[in-house]
This record gives sequence, C-alpha cells and structure tokens, in this order.
Amino acid sequence: MLEDKDRIFQNLYGDKGVDVESSINRGDWKNTKDICSKGREWIISEIKSSELRGRGGAGFPTGLKWSFAPKEVGSKPHYLVINADESEPGTCKDRDILRFEPQKLIEGCLIASYAIGAHKCYIYVRGEYFNEGENLQKSIDEAYRKKLIGKNACETGWDLDIYIHYGAGAYICGEETALLESLEGKKGQPRLKPPFPALVGLYGCPTIVNNVETIAVVPTILRKGSKWFSSLGKPKNTGTKIFCISGNVNNPCNVEEEMGISLKELIEKHAGGVIGGWENLKAVIPGGSSMPMLPKDICENIKMDFDSLVEHKSGLGTAGIVVINKDQDIIACMARIARFYKHESCGQCTPCREGSGWMWRMLERMRKNEASREEIEMLEDVTKQIEGHTICAFGEGSSWPVQGLLRHFKKEIIKRNNFNPLVNTNKNIPYLIDQHLLDKDNA
Ligand code: SF4
Repeated sequence: MLEDKDRIFQNLYGDKGVDVESSINRGDWKNTKDICSKGREWIISEIKSSELRGRGGAGFPTGLKWSFAPKEVGSKPHYLVINADESEPGTCKDRDILRFEPQKLIEGCLIASYAIGAHKCYIYVRGEYFNEGENLQKSIDEAYRKKLIGKNACETGWDLDIYIHYGAGAYICGEETALLESLEGKKGQPRLKPPFPALVGLYGCPTIVNNVETIAVVPTILRKGSKWFSSLGKPKNTGTKIFCISGNVNNPCNVEEEMGISLKELIEKHAGGVIGGWENLKAVIPGGSSMPMLPKDICENIKMDFDSLVEHKSGLGTAGIVVINKDQDIIACMARIARFYKHESCGQCTPCREGSGWMWRMLERMRKNEASREEIEMLEDVTKQIEGHTICAFGEGSSWPVQGLLRHFKKEIIKRNNFNPLVNTNKNIPYLIDQHLLDKDNA
C-alpha cells in the first residue's frame, strides 16, 4: 500500500481545509518561484523523466506533449486548457480534486503555463459540476488575492490569468478537440487530426490540453523530484493514481494508490470487498465504461497500470473501476452502457452514429431473449466496423466494451437466447466454439 508520505493528495476526502492558507500549510505553493526559475527546458525535462502519463484516459506522456508546443511564442498566443469535463461513467476523481485540492490544480496551471509559454489558462468544467466550479472560482479568487496568479504570478515574473468555462453536459466534449470547439462557442464536435492542438488549437493557436489530475500532480513531482515519482509504480507506468471504485462493492470510494497495485487489493482493502464476497464477483470494468470488462479469473491477479491492462485486452483509461457481481444481468449492464454511447455520439461519422445504435438495439434484443442466432456475429462485426473507422476515439470507446462482453460472456448470450448450437442456419457461424463454451460451462 502507498505510504502516507508518498501521497500527493493529502486532502482527497475534504477533511482538512480547502482554503488557500490550509493548502499552503500542506505544502502547496512552496518554492514555486524556484521551480519556475529553473526554466522551461528543465521543467519539461523533469516531467519527461518522471514518465508521467496523462490521467484523463489516453495515457499519453505529459512531458512529451508539452515539448510539442513551439519553443518561442510567435505572433499567436499559447494557451493551456484544462480538461475538467469528467464524464466517463464510473469516474469521479477530478471532481474531488476540484472540491478538495483546488490549489494543487491552480499551482499546476501556473507551472504548466510557464513551461509551454501560455499567459491564459482555461479550465473547462463539465456543466453538472456547477457547485465544484463555483468552489474552484473561489479558490482562483483567493489565489489572485495572494498574488499567486495574475500579474507577476508568485513572483515568477510570469503573468497568468485563469478562466473557468462550463460545458453543457455532452460526453464528447471530453475529447480534446471537441472541447476546444465548445470553448470557442461552437457545437462540441471533434476535429480531424492533424493538425494537433499543440500547433493549431484554441482559436487556431498553439494549445496544450491536459486533464485535471495530470496538472494537479505536476507541482509535487517537481518539488520531490522526478526520481521519487518514477520510483513508484513500474517503468512507463510510474507514480500514484487516483482510483475510483464503484458498483457492487461495500464501500465505494476514491483512493490514491501506487500505479500497478493489484485490482483485488483495491477492491478488498479500500472498497470493503465485493457485495456478497469475492466469490460473488462476476466482472470488473477497470477504466471507466469505455474499457472492456474483465471476468473474475483475470481479476484475481491483474495489476492496475496502463501496460498490464493492455496485455489483457483492456485499459486503465480513467481508472474508474466498476465492480459487477453475480446478482447483476451482465447483458443488461452492457446494453445500458451501449445506450449511453448511442446517446452521446456526436453523429459526424457514419460508423459511430449508426453503429452505436445498432449495438444498443442488438444488445437490448439479446437481453430480452429476442435476438436471432446470427446477431452474435453481426454484433461483433459492427464493433469491428466502428473501431478504427472514425474521427475520434469515441468509436473505440463505444465498441471495445461490447467486444469485452463478447470475448468473455458470449456463452451467457447463447444461453439466454436458447440458441441451439447444433442447428446451423448460417455457414459463417463458428458453432464449434459455442459448443465448446457450453461444454466448458457445464463441466
Ligand atoms: Fe463524433 Fe463518434 Fe465520430 Fe467521434 S467517432 S467524431 S463521437 S461520430
């Protein structure tokens, strides 16, 4: 378990003060001026050596992303944009940072803005986080009053203004280019890439978009050193991470732990265990609803880091862990998730717009025992037709969880719909596999 001294978020549960004085007493805003005085190159190189990867879902190396911003500010201003549009079902870590550790985020905004040459920073807060946004504004005002941001922020010689912008509740605005469109006052639809925001972003200017948690951990990394951060976790999967554990557990919670902790330990030690006991576990969605679910046998030993989860055809995503026990109807769970993605597709790409609806309708039929036998392969085919054929990663985010269901729980669909595995109505259907699954299940 992570030792208290290595915990970055000392007030994750809001039991200590949120005001700027309390935050300073906990160590925020300590030596910020000295950190900035070491220069942009040093900051970016430290973040690169720490191997910090973005905490918003994609896991892109943060230092590398910052290095894409032009070194000199030309005729166009640079912007830092913070993605606080936390909308991934099962995820609520940024919310608690906004509520209880706002000064970590604000200090991180100053350091990151300095590193990429931005004088303006926008924090895009999801519309439903209205109260969190109001509290964040209070914290920003406090930081202005203490001259931590604004003109000559924290005596660094750098000017920084921070603005909050509220989204209107669309999931897709968490995709960085859709977020920029929305911030510009347009419909929140992803842009074709390239060009990437680092060169052509907000208002066509160089822009770095980072997640709340990513920016909030930056000051501590620079204070304690990249070596300290990279000594936690494992190579390329370093540091600590806030895990959000929900679903069929006795004590749903957010907890900061070392990257690479075992999933079982997170559930058993921090979330009070699975309701009905570990043996009652059916599956776990490990990284927010867009990541493929894992069955119990994989959950026994899996480690929670980017690479370990990819090895098992899933992903760390936002580290939103949703526990599903045997009391749940797994097909209904997946149908509900598919409905969410059907609703949230922005509609620009045909495979995503049409395919997300197909997947939902087929899963609904499977849930109600109304599906035809051919639909299992058709469902799989639809997921493949979406994956890799769209403008943004939403296509993968909507099809991967369905693939996870088919990979691990196909036999449940077969059983539910009373398909006779010996009657072949379609030559393309691999019945032998189905019979094998049933045999295995009956054994
Ligand atoms: Fe919109 Fe879906 Fe295309 Fe993304 S993949 S741009 S959400 S239609």
